[in-house]
Amino acid sequence: MSSRLQLLRFPFSFEARQASQKLARDLGALVSLLDRPEYQYIVKEAQDRVYAALTQSQIRYPSMENESDVLIYPTARLIVEKIGLPQLRALQAEAESKEANRQLGKEDSGLVTTLCKTSFNWNIKSMGDISERAKLPLMLRTYEMRILFENYLEVAPSFHSEEWNLINRHLDKGWILIRRSELDRLISGKFRQLVMQGRFDIPPMSQRLIESVQRIEAESKGKIRHVEPVKMTETLASAFPPCIQRMYDQSLKGAVNLSHDARFALAAFLLKIGMEADEVQKVFSNSPDRNISLIEYQVRHIASKRSMGSDDEGYNPPGCKKLQVNNLCPVYLGTEFDPLCEYILNPLGFYQTRAWELTKGIEDHSWYAKKRDKKQNF
Ligand code: SF4
Repeated sequence: MSSRLQLLRFPFSFEARQASQKLARDLGALVSLLDRPEYQYIVKEAQDRVYAALTQSQIRYPSMENESDVLIYPTARLIVEKIGLPQLRALQAEAESKEANRQLGKEDSGLVTTLCKTSFNWNIKSMGDISERAKLPLMLRTYEMRILFENYLEVAPSFHSEEWNLINRHLDKGWILIRRSELDRLISGKFRQLVMQGRFDIPPMSQRLIESVQRIEAESKGKIRHVEPVKMTETLASAFPPCIQRMYDQSLKGAVNLSHDARFALAAFLLKIGMEADEVQKVFSNSPDRNISLIEYQVRHIASKRSMGSDDEGYNPPGCKKLQVNNLCPVYLGTEFDPLCEYILNPLGFYQTRAWELTKGIEDHSWYAKKRDKKQNF
């Protein structure tokens, strides 16, 4: 297979994007093209590709004997974005990233280095052949390549494993030493990010595409749990405890960089009350040091972990005592007051009670005083 054909197989490659645009300059043109009989197979292949992602099976890369095969991936993305389920997008990102990683493993380092340069503008250098690397200290000989520090940071912070942590990497004058398999992982991780971050305006769809969308939607019903995401409303926000309200306002205004503890508390709280990870990310998107990849990583990390002893996904937000120690409780600091804070131990407890009061229209808080067990004194 020629190297151009090999590069075309990777949907994120410059070559694949250029070939797609040559056939259909935008999504409207793609939809029109797919209505032509000779391109109908693309819709079928794209539907199969989405179905494989939905069922967490391996997706199949097309042979690329026909250059129009490059349209299968954008059509699969179109189907998923039309359905608009974040869980389906996440499954697609996972399946596409996994297959890219598997396919990259079959390619030689020269082609993969080219792919990095032309697709992401990453700077990768070889550490030399075995005889050259044999001159290096023993612990460095297994690293076949090095990547520019800032390119590494585009993806590595989103990986959970400790080995990706910067303190565990060998850094040499702005370059990070990596193994070839690690480079494949970084590339497929970047591809995953691109799928997760990609949003586009959906043009009117043709009948054939609508049928595919409906088929995948019907399949999704049994396979994806539909949870109504919480949309932040004024009523909901008015049930926030003073600590969360302050962090939330500061974050939206983007006036200050929230501390790590504050970001964690706010993200864990918002996720626990049922806000979508995408929405939570937006809350942080105005922070002066905004680093979209890092914010996405942190929010996803908090959303995917479990607190000790909890069956639910997502860390529990820290309790009041911890927030007080970290100077994040305005009631403890004496700058704000809410009588409910004396009776709860966790911002979530505050939120549940205040939300209940709001739904019942209870404005008189004197009933707290009838409770004998004050849990905190300020
Ligand atoms: S007492 Fe707890 S809930 Fe109330 S503001 Fe302080 S940390 Fe938040």
